[in-house]
Amino acid sequence: MIARVDPARCTGHGRCYMLAPDLFDADDDGYSVGGDRPVPEGMERRARIAAANCPESAIHLVLDEPDPTDPQSPTDTREENP
Ligand code: SF4
Repeated sequence: MIARVDPARCTGHGRCYMLAPDLFDADDDGYSVGGDRPVPEGMERRARIAAANCPESAIHLVLDEPDPTDPQSPTDTREENP
């Protein structure tokens, strides 16, 4: 899973890095640092909580790309937008 922060939507409420400080960082102005952030295994729930609590819907969760050689690999890579 990847947590993708859209800097054009972020208004710096700070909920994401307060709820999931291991996944999100603030810049000097309090905005969440944009871009893609890999979500370590076991941290998916925390990423979902942060995304669900972003008042600007600036966090999108992207499921991992499918691995065609792995039968256990997810086949659905749609973006999650809680
Ligand atoms: S919770 Fe949303 S609006 Fe607030 S800092 Fe994080 S990404 Fe930005």
